[in-house]
Amino acid sequence: PFEVLVIGGGPAGAAAAVYTARKGIRTGVAAQRFGGQVLDTLGIENFISVSHTEGPKLAAALENHVREYEVDIMNLSTAQQLIPAEAPGGLHSIVLSNGATLRARSVILSTGARWRNMNVPGEAEYATKGVAYCPHCDGPLFKGKRTAVIGGGNSGVEAAIDLAGIVAHVTLIEFDTVLRADAVLQDKLRSLPNVTILTNARTTEVLGDGAKVTGLTYEDRATGTIHTVELEGIFVQIGLVPNTEWLKGAIALSPRGEIEIDAKGATSIPGVFAAGDCTTVPYKQIIIAMGAGATAGLSAFDYMIRN
Ligand code: FAD
Repeated sequence: PFEVLVIGGGPAGAAAAVYTARKGIRTGVAAQRFGGQVLDTLGIENFISVSHTEGPKLAAALENHVREYEVDIMNLSTAQQLIPAEAPGGLHSIVLSNGATLRARSVILSTGARWRNMNVPGEAEYATKGVAYCPHCDGPLFKGKRTAVIGGGNSGVEAAIDLAGIVAHVTLIEFDTVLRADAVLQDKLRSLPNVTILTNARTTEVLGDGAKVTGLTYEDRATGTIHTVELEGIFVQIGLVPNTEWLKGAIALSPRGEIEIDAKGATSIPGVFAAGDCTTVPYKQIIIAMGAGATAGLSAFDYMIRN
C-alpha cells in the first residue's frame, strides 16, 4: 500500500504529490489524464512569476517536477469508489474502473472540475477560438471587443460586470425569464452603459469564419424568432461541475457536489484530504489549486505522523 495516494494529476494533485514526496512519504498518483484542465488551456498569463505560458507546456512541467521524486504515477486510472478505513489510522481503498484496488493510509482527492457546455453547434469547434469559460483567465484577450456571456446566475452576471470594464460591449443571455443572480449584482449590471441583457433567450449556435468566432444566434423563446448577434467572444457561464459523482454517499459533499473541506483541506473522513476545483474552495484557478494541493499534502503528512 501507499502511505499517501493522490487521486487526480492536475495542478492540485501535482503540488500535493511534490509536497508529500519531499517529506519522504511513499506517494502514488492515480490520474485519468495527468495535467487536467491545464491540458485544454491555450495561453496562461496569471500563473504568477510566469508572465506567459501554454497549457501543454505547464502540464509537462507539472509531470516532470513530480517525476523528480520517487512518485508512482499511474496514468489512465479512473477512480470509481472510495472505501474509507474501518478504523482511524487504517487503510483507505480506492477502486479503479479497471477493477484494481489501491490502498493508502492517507488519500488526497484532487479530481478537479469541468465546465458545463451549451452543447450547440460551433461551441466545441470554436473553443479557445472565441468561446471561453474563464473570465479571469481570458477576459483581457477580448479588450475592446464585443462579447456575450451565456448564463444569468451569479457567475454569469459577475463575469458580465467584470468584462464590461475591459471589452467594448457585453450581451448577457439568460434562458429563463429572469436573472437568477443576487439583486446587488443585477443592480450593478443594469447600471453599466455597455451591457445588453436578454432574458427568455436560448443560444442556438456559435457562428465563425473557420478560424474564429464571429457571432452567435439565439431564439427569442417568447416568439420563436431567431436573432443574430455579431461579436468576437462568448463566455459560457452555466456551471462548473466538480468531478465527484463517484464520491456520492462516501464523503460529505456540498449541494453543488463539491467536497467539503476546512482550512487544512480535511474532509469528513479522517485521513482523507482534498484540494482544488473539486472542493468548496472559493475561486477555481491554477495558482489556487496548487496552493490547496500543498496544504493537503502538508495535512496528510501531519496525519501520518500522528497515526
Ligand atoms: P484539474 O486540472 O481539473 O485536474 C483534475 C485531475 O483529476 C486530472 O488529472 C483528471 O484527469 C483527474 N481525474 C478526474 N476524475 C478522476 C477520477 N475519477 N479518477 C482519477 N482521476 C480523475 N486557471 C488559471 O489560473 N489560469 C488560466 O488561464 C486558466 N485557463 C483555463 C482555461 C480553460 C479552457 C479551462 C478549462 C480552465 C482554465 N483555468 C485557468 C482553470 C484551471 O485550469 C483549474 O482551476 C485548475 O486546473 C484546477 O486544478 P485541479 O488540479 O483542481 O483540477
